[in-house]
Amino acid sequence: MSVEAYQGKLLPKERLGDLFDAVARSYRVLGPVARNGSVAIGPVERLEEMAMDYSVTVLPPKEWLHRPVETLFSVTKSLEFEAKEAIASEQPQAIFGLHTCDLTGIRRLDEVFRKHYPDPYYNRRREKTLLVVLNCATPPGPDCFCASMQGGPFAEEGYDVALTDLGDHFLVEAASDAGVAVVSPLQLDDASRESFREKAARKRQSVQKMPKSLNTANLQTILNREISHPRWGELKEECLGCGNCTMVCPTCYCYSVSDKLDLSLSRAERVRTWDSCQLMEFSAVHGGNFRKDRAARFKQWVYHKLNYWIDQYGAEGCVGCGRCIAWCPAKIDITEVIRDVRGGD
Ligand code: SF4
Ligand code: SF4
Repeated sequence: MSVEAYQGKLLPKERLGDLFDAVARSYRVLGPVARNGSVAIGPVERLEEMAMDYSVTVLPPKEWLHRPVETLFSVTKSLEFEAKEAIASEQPQAIFGLHTCDLTGIRRLDEVFRKHYPDPYYNRRREKTLLVVLNCATPPGPDCFCASMQGGPFAEEGYDVALTDLGDHFLVEAASDAGVAVVSPLQLDDASRESFREKAARKRQSVQKMPKSLNTANLQTILNREISHPRWGELKEECLGCGNCTMVCPTCYCYSVSDKLDLSLSRAERVRTWDSCQLMEFSAVHGGNFRKDRAARFKQWVYHKLNYWIDQYGAEGCVGCGRCIAWCPAKIDITEVIRDVRGGD
């Protein structure tokens, strides 16, 4: 069946394992796994290993596409370049049960690494990745504001398969040929109009339950005007410059590149590692550091997310997942900072 001909289906909850098995037949499955009181995306072999009732994982799934540490290539003593084979040989992977903010995060990274600055390492993984979204009908996390950022809570496009919890059943939608290929063999019943009405009602409930919000109306204009607002200066005393907020962010993509030489001088590797604009070293260049001040680095991060990103890529670089709030040791909340700079809601 083609994706154009695909209609939504109903999957009885007790058959979710059938969908998992259908995915696992062709893909290595990554899913939400409970660990030490938190949930992380990691390899799973059985449906029962997954914590499907989570709200937000610690790290976003970007770590499985844009790796935290990655060897780009190696050079041997003969000076012949040896392409790293690891990416080409990686098996197809499926991210099962990802939430809509993280789907949107991946779509924002696609804009960077597939469209504007094509990155072969990201792309070879991304092309082999199936995205099975679980729309957020569970209570949101305490810091979620995806509804303000077009980040969620329900996916409209960009997924392969989307699941919506309708009580006894999941509504199963497929938006790509790869998605249809895993769903079709299950021979599910067609969803009715009532199922889609129920989905819309659950989406409204989920939006209403969203605990935080960020008003984006005229925000670019306001940020451009308020570049010297006193709130930015106060952050010098609050922000620790630890970089947590960028590491957990599903859209932050900056990296550093270094060469590593072994002691025998016979082999070298070029390695890239996630980097952070919140770290002092990030802005160190020949002749000095152009952003020594922690407040300036925090402001740059916010301005990139909510202002410059729109000019660069056509949407905000924030999807409202709330992770930067949850994991900030100084309890800095981007929604409150913007409220302060706006002078209220
Ligand atoms: S800026 Fe914060 S809330 Fe927005 S996407 Fe990044 S981590 Fe999530
Ligand atoms: S996590 Fe908080 S303290 Fe650390 S760099 Fe980000 S805003 Fe500053």
